Amino acid sequence: MKKINPAHIGFDIDGVVADTGGAFIRIANEEYGLHSLSLKDITYYEVVGSLDVERKIIDEIFKRLHDEPLSSGIQPMEDAISVLHKYAEHAPLTFVTARPQKEPIAMWLKHFLKPAAHENMRLVAMGEHDNKTPYIKNLGLKYFVDDRLQTCQKLAREGITPLVYNQPWNMNGHDLQTVDNWQAIHALCFD
Ligand SMILES: [Mg+2]
Repeated sequence: MKKINPAHIGFDIDGVVADTGGAFIRIANEEYGLHSLSLKDITYYEVVGSLDVERKIIDEIFKRLHDEPLSSGIQPMEDAISVLHKYAEHAPLTFVTARPQKEPIAMWLKHFLKPAAHENMRLVAMGEHDNKTPYIKNLGLKYFVDDRLQTCQKLAREGITPLVYNQPWNMNGHDLQTVDNWQAIHALCFD
């Protein structure tokens, strides 16, 4: 495949840059005693429907992951930060998240990214899941990495090339291009 220009690709955050699912499982395990959960139990994007766990507990954990991504211990996905730094040498990083609040996740990114990469990044917090395309187009992107299958399918219909970041909740029922990890994202743009 022809290499992608780094200026033309953007990234979702949760489930792509950030191991939010891993943090969810860890908190459920350590603080709620839900020891049998694993990431493989999350087979839908909407966790509520796929885990046999009380709704209230799920909501509490997600609120923490949203409001306090740093102190709730969300880690970057393996190799994400080093690959993002490589991208940032060539073009500003662009993130489009469905999160409703920008500030907490901006602080999280600031914690992990080099100052230059963080200062130049573009971050859009939309507050909704289903309308990423106009933002992505306005930012001049042609490719977008996301872990939510419905988002990727909508992008594909609307003229953006999605790359599905493989996760247990998006593995079935599509024929879109996928990436397994950040080494694969690196290989999209660089030799
Ligand atoms: Mg996501």
